[in-house]
Amino acid sequence: MRKIDKVIIHCSDTWRGFPLLPQHLGQWHKERGFAPAGKCLTEGVDPAVGYHFYINRDGIESPLRPLEEAGIHCKGHNHNSIGICMEGGGLYEAKHKLQRNLKEYREKIGIKTIYQTVIRTAFLLDQFGLDSSNVFGHGELQLNKKDTCPYLDMNAFRVMVKVFLENLRRSKND
Ligand SMILES: [Zn+2]
Repeated sequence: MRKIDKVIIHCSDTWRGFPLLPQHLGQWHKERGFAPAGKCLTEGVDPAVGYHFYINRDGIESPLRPLEEAGIHCKGHNHNSIGICMEGGGLYEAKHKLQRNLKEYREKIGIKTIYQTVIRTAFLLDQFGLDSSNVFGHGELQLNKKDTCPYLDMNAFRVMVKVFLENLRRSKND
């Protein structure tokens, strides 16, 4: 296994009017020329898909790249990280260009999606002996990005992960 010291959280930047399948992600990443993994863990998804997990609006998870293989999701951090993509966070149709940068025109990531992402993240941290300080939002690592994927309060997210991880580790010692 490669050395992993980060879990990086993304959003798909799509919105409710367009239910995003993991197959779409695979197709998009293939079109962008991403180097394919040896295989994809969800049947029918192109192995060019850059994330390790995708969690949709209903909280349903699709494993994508094998963890042994580096993903393609956060420049400069791919070799030692795991990438999780949550569905949502995209823009509603805003009338004016100015509105497009306003928070209220973004779909909030759904609570089912967040919960499942917290759970998956905590299990990964446990597996690799990490803690909640090893969790980052994409935008926290690529500050030159004009947006701030995953459009989520990452401090609140880390608190949820910390609580879940503590309970997970405690339950193993009972
Ligand atoms: Zn991202």
